[in-house]
Amino acid sequence: MKRALVVIDMIEDFAHEGGALYCGPSMGRIIPVIQRELERARVAGEPIIYLTDNHVPDDAEFKMFPPHAIVGTKGAEIIPELAPEEADDVIPKRRFSGFFGTDLDITLRERDVDTLRLVGDCTNICVLYTAADARNLGYAVEVVRDGVTSFDEEAHHDALRELEKTLGAKIV
Ligand code: ZN
Repeated sequence: MKRALVVIDMIEDFAHEGGALYCGPSMGRIIPVIQRELERARVAGEPIIYLTDNHVPDDAEFKMFPPHAIVGTKGAEIIPELAPEEADDVIPKRRFSGFFGTDLDITLRERDVDTLRLVGDCTNICVLYTAADARNLGYAVEVVRDGVTSFDEEAHHDALRELEKTLGAKIV
């Protein structure tokens, strides 16, 4: 098994109060968990990949959600508590799934990765749909229970069940 840690959407607009689409106080609880995951992955030599929402100003997604994570703005930046290091990959995305319209799959294959360990937000949106595409492409998926969250707690729990029961992800 070769595993990569995938950190999803830990950007200013979602993670910090005052951000354009603040995900809520549970974000504060997952940050230290993700810090520990980053330390663990660095010691283990696992590739670390950050997926970041990164929208054009008139992105179609803004028909559903208020504008957020606009290219080049502070809101689209990874929060300093989880700052990437030189060797890490940062992959911008415009859709829920980190695989859609990005080079995530190529990047993982180049690193011989077969297992993704997911942390970040939101459990029921970008985590869920990235996990679904990962499973379609044949990757094993682990989701760190205390390292994911959502603005909608019920949807968070529903998504964890869906990840485990339908997608065959391992909840750790
Ligand atoms: Zn978005």
